[in-house]
Amino acid sequence: MGDLALAMILRAKVQKKFESGFALDVEKEFGPGFHVLFGASGSGKTTLLDCVAGLTKPDNGRIVLEERTLFDTLTNVDEPTYRRRVGYVLQGQALFPHLTVRDNICFGLGDKGDQDAIVEAITRSMEIEGLEDRRPAKLSAGQRQRVALARSLVANPHLLLMDEPLAALDANTKSTIIDVLLRWNEERQVPILYVTHDREEAYSLGERLIVMEEGKIIATGDPQQVLTSPARHSIAQLAGFENLLECEIMSEHPDQGT
Ligand code: ADP
Ligand code: MG
Repeated sequence: MGDLALAMILRAKVQKKFESGFALDVEKEFGPGFHVLFGASGSGKTTLLDCVAGLTKPDNGRIVLEERTLFDTLTNVDEPTYRRRVGYVLQGQALFPHLTVRDNICFGLGDKGDQDAIVEAITRSMEIEGLEDRRPAKLSAGQRQRVALARSLVANPHLLLMDEPLAALDANTKSTIIDVLLRWNEERQVPILYVTHDREEAYSLGERLIVMEEGKIIATGDPQQVLTSPARHSIAQLAGFENLLECEIMSEHPDQGT
């Protein structure tokens, strides 16, 4: 603890080709706060997160978190996942079935000293207090997901990767968890890469929206801006515009806004 510099920055340059022909090619800097990754299924969102987490090895690139190089093809650096200080939360994440909520949350905590205080604080903020002695089988999906998130947060990650973590949850549970995350990150100031294909979530979370298509970033910016005046047909589809009309531009009058 206490080892967090303010305002973590992730610099990622990753290229990864699969035999299928899919090619991820992303270069981007992620400052502290939410970055919503948005894009059709198969656009490469999970592959990007896996590369950053060290679960997939890029063919080429360099990943630097704050001052630490996690991966670099030039200098042959490839830090193992457990040393990257990266929290990774997935949809319907598995907890250890034989462990209680408390032990699931504390799993991986090196220092056993102040576990009670840590568990108390995190279960309170996640609104799962009182469940500490239960096993996962006795929890609802929403409670399980909050335990999984609590487990990631207490490990003090310097970067948080979230792959549709709330997709299966009801609206109330979602907004509780999002509030917790926003508050948590006011203190921590780490980059949070948050994958969703839920438009409402993209609007409510994002200061920054990143749209991916076929392994590339095709748009970035304020979600309102990106989604309400989409520069591309594919973004318009993602944004949920149902009627797209082909048309030909006869003349432009930027001064009149037409
Ligand atoms: P998304 O998360 O945006 O839905 P993915 O990153 O999961 O997209 O997948 C991007 C593309 O890469 C897809 O075409 C997928 O089939 C392919 N892909 C993902 N993982 C592998 C893998 N381990 N081996 C081969 N192809 C993969
Ligand atoms: Mg995915």
